Amino acid sequence: MKKKVYLIQPSFRKSDGQVVKGEYLGNRSIEMPILCATIPQYWGKEHCYEYLEDIDFDSDAGVVLITGASNDILHGYQIAEKLKARNKTIIFGGYQDVFSLQLMKPMVDAVYHGIPGPEEMEMILEDAANNNLKREYNVGVNIDFPFDYSIFEDKKLKYVQVVTSLGCHFKCDFCCQPEIYGGKFYLRSIDAVIKDLKSVRKLSRFIGFRDANFLNKKSHLVDLCTRIIAERLNIRWAAQCSVTIGQDPKLLAMMKKAGCRLLFFGLESLNQDNLNEIHKSFTASSYASLIANVHKAGIYTAAYFMFGFDHDTKNTFGEVYSFVRKTRLAIPLMNIYNPIPGTRLFQRLKNENRIDFPTPVDYVKDIPVHSLPCSKSFFKPKNMSGEELEKGFHELSKKLTTYRAIFRRSLKPNINTIILLGLNFDLRKEYKKRNVNQ
Ligand code: SF4
Repeated sequence: MKKKVYLIQPSFRKSDGQVVKGEYLGNRSIEMPILCATIPQYWGKEHCYEYLEDIDFDSDAGVVLITGASNDILHGYQIAEKLKARNKTIIFGGYQDVFSLQLMKPMVDAVYHGIPGPEEMEMILEDAANNNLKREYNVGVNIDFPFDYSIFEDKKLKYVQVVTSLGCHFKCDFCCQPEIYGGKFYLRSIDAVIKDLKSVRKLSRFIGFRDANFLNKKSHLVDLCTRIIAERLNIRWAAQCSVTIGQDPKLLAMMKKAGCRLLFFGLESLNQDNLNEIHKSFTASSYASLIANVHKAGIYTAAYFMFGFDHDTKNTFGEVYSFVRKTRLAIPLMNIYNPIPGTRLFQRLKNENRIDFPTPVDYVKDIPVHSLPCSKSFFKPKNMSGEELEKGFHELSKKLTTYRAIFRRSLKPNINTIILLGLNFDLRKEYKKRNVNQ
């Protein structure tokens, strides 16, 4: 077999069924740089980041490696199917929820679990070259090496993703992270992250840290900010972390100095009973003051909410609307709760006979439901019907994406208003598209 590997990161289908090209350039751009950095020098390598390029189904590579985040994988399955028909050896790996694995395993020659570093990748590829490929590899989590961002050199990027850790120490019932990483997190060395930032800085000044929880370990975050400031990297960045960062004005001031301009929080619900039930260990009544503290530090906020939890009622939508206005959140990100197979909440709802969720086979038959943001109810809510949940959600999305609401949220002093406007108009576009597709 020719020692050449074709790396593919599939794009994904939105709710209108179209494969996304280019539109979400910054999103999910970390998998390919990680993968590229692991391929041995003596192997030939081609890559396709499908958001930007078309897949070459006639590539002469003997091995195809498909990676991607979970909602890319439905489309990834179709790509694997086509390549299989061309007798390629196909390996699948990357971010894996139970659903993606169930879907991909029968279609590919091998699956790896975890994140392989250069050594583990060499072993897998050599097994493929020697016709000795195993069905499954457990490679652990190896992320402590500089990633290869050269694949983006000739591309226009809104921002580039960098990662400082994987996993999260919280164990929220609806989230895949606890199932994938067992409630643990893995930190990269500050040296490796700084090397990445220096590579990325040549491509863009705007960085999105892709960590599930940027506040996994405070001392690590402090060390990172200290180095960014000392090395004068002059970057502007956003990250997602626990809202409890609002308790630490000193840390927030340091982050601002290091270039932080926007923080994303998974608030999920304003109802404490909901939070307790899904084991989200936050205090809803503290949300507003924590967010105010972040704003005081000169950092803007985006927050995720989910709808359809057991203590939600038809009034919940109005409560969230008032909260968004009152707290002056810059970007409100709404989803109907999407039950993900393998998570504890999915299992509970399944045990209660409340799941109405397509099987992997249904997905492959071109039902583009695994689309974010999720605007459909794939389960039976407790205090309203699925239709009422969807209706309340659409009305709220509409109110939050009027021109007036967008300008009120986006026209801020001391921040790149264009970025906030862009993100808020993306929300409006997505809402409009979803509404058309109902
Ligand atoms: S805090 Fe966020 S990343 Fe961590 S388990 Fe909860 S939802 Fe997942």
